[in-house]
Amino acid sequence: MGKKQQPKNPDLICNFCGKNQTQAHFMISGFEANICDNCTERAYEIVSKELNKGKTEVSIPKLSKLRLLKPVEMKKHLDSYVIGQDEAKKALCVAVYNHYKRLNHRNDKHIEEEVTIEKSNVLMVGETGTGKTYLVKTLAKILDVPFCIADATVVTEAGYVGEDVESILSRLLHNANGDAKAAERGIVYIDEIDKIARKSDNPSITRDVSGEGVQQALLKLLEGTISNVPPGGGRKHPDQKYIQINTENILFICGGAFEGIEKRIAQRMNTQPLGFRSLKKAELQLDKENLLQYVTAQDVKSFGLIPELIGRLPVITSLNPLDKDALRKILIEPKNALVKQYQKLFDMEGTKLVFEEEVYDYIVENALEYKLGARGLRSICEEIMSDAMFDLPTNSQATFVLSLEYVKDKFEKSKFRSLKVA
Ligand code: ADP
Repeated sequence: MGKKQQPKNPDLICNFCGKNQTQAHFMISGFEANICDNCTERAYEIVSKELNKGKTEVSIPKLSKLRLLKPVEMKKHLDSYVIGQDEAKKALCVAVYNHYKRLNHRNDKHIEEEVTIEKSNVLMVGETGTGKTYLVKTLAKILDVPFCIADATVVTEAGYVGEDVESILSRLLHNANGDAKAAERGIVYIDEIDKIARKSDNPSITRDVSGEGVQQALLKLLEGTISNVPPGGGRKHPDQKYIQINTENILFICGGAFEGIEKRIAQRMNTQPLGFRSLKKAELQLDKENLLQYVTAQDVKSFGLIPELIGRLPVITSLNPLDKDALRKILIEPKNALVKQYQKLFDMEGTKLVFEEEVYDYIVENALEYKLGARGLRSICEEIMSDAMFDLPTNSQATFVLSLEYVKDKFEKSKFRSLKVA
């Protein structure tokens, strides 16, 4: 039971504001002096402000909000969305962790550091549709930092028709809701970096988007520069107001398919390139799968990226091609797997959508046959489901079973059939 409350004493006066005890919530009495609750609170504010004076200037408030997970935890989160690609996941998690650790560390220190930890931008090499973009996107979401995707092929040297490199930062700024400080610690994914390889070194490129010039322009961004960014995007023009963005602490992750790089890896690894070329298709795929994981800066250089740019991408990792097993898992398992998405859509109409087991294999086999990778899973599902999704809102039913027969019928009639004939 609580203590019996004493009656309030009108003669007990706060020595700071003059209120008596009946006018205050409570009164603290000391040696020949009293203080009321209001004045205690005020005094506390004054004292904490004084004590924290130096500290508030060094800490960037936004940074304290960063949910910096340990690499293992980060990977666990990634695992629930992205299937396989363990090596790439690990490399990314470590790079991202070190990057933000470095930022937080800098933030904590008042004095000049003896050891400067350099930024670890990442280069991901992997066939298209293997999850490069998806990995980075998911990571940025987990970390809750501003993120943008840029395509290296649309970037040109300043003055040419196309986008300036600054447009990448405009996009990042936009995604950070105009908060330049937040954008300055964001993540930028530059896709198709292989397409701006020097033409002379890479015969597979049919369109040179000014190759080396664009690489030089990107290099500046990656190295760390203060860039004048048009806040609304678009090209720069003289009367425009700019926002300055320092790219020093932005993490750049580049990705590309680097088609044909396996041959360079093979060459470097002293396998026989001629024999390699004459291998049968199945063996070639198998070799390719094994070889990509050995990719080094040297291979990327011989592919046509300039050494300075490669120097700014110290972490190089690769993604594995997706086999049948991986595609099946992608279709069913991740948190937002396609199957789960369709089931949710049907559920919103009050219908339980049931996939027959063989349907999964059928979808995956066709994705493989048409060489569409994980992206193909979606296109195939859309073809199969579109009629049902068209009819369902008007003819609602409690359960809709997707049988192999139904799926085959829909798919045979779809545009994919014409692809096959071609
Ligand atoms: P890339 O950037 O390598 O060309 P994406 O990341 O754009 O490929 O992948 C295309 C789509 O395929 C993604 O949006 C995702 O839905 C799916 N996907 C690809 N790889 C995976 C994977 N390993 N795990 C889960 N989904 C994947």
